Amino acid sequence: MNPAEFMVNDKCIGCGKCIRVCPGGILYMGEDRRPRIKEFEEFGWNGCWQCEHCLAVCPEAAVSILHHRPEDSLPVPEPDTATPVMDALTASRRSCRRYQKRNVPRDVIEDMISRLANAPNGGNK
Ligand code: SF4
Ligand code: SF4
Repeated sequence: MNPAEFMVNDKCIGCGKCIRVCPGGILYMGEDRRPRIKEFEEFGWNGCWQCEHCLAVCPEAAVSILHHRPEDSLPVPEPDTATPVMDALTASRRSCRRYQKRNVPRDVIEDMISRLANAPNGGNK
């Protein structure tokens, strides 16, 4: 049973990174040098943690899981670009206590949810 819909395409080079990073320990290398997923009954501690680390670390963008494909993932900024932005965000962060009386456009909310889904959270919920 593969409820996580773990799939590997032909770009896989058999490096094993997805297997080494899997916190649930449910990935293994098949005899054809392609990663496989063990059978599990439910998501969580004893199965797939839904962390998507396997998708994230694959150097060949060969892993799809939980119906998420590498080509649909947000690009990761280069460190040279990300560092000054992170510094600016950390230094200029403020709490908002006063709000405008107008609705936030739906596409803005959906974009924020998409980005926040990549932030650390409890149990990948
Ligand atoms: S999503 Fe996480 S726990 Fe599930 S197979 Fe991938 S690395 Fe392992
Ligand atoms: S990380 Fe990607 S290339 Fe490496 S074994 Fe896993 S699927 Fe194949």
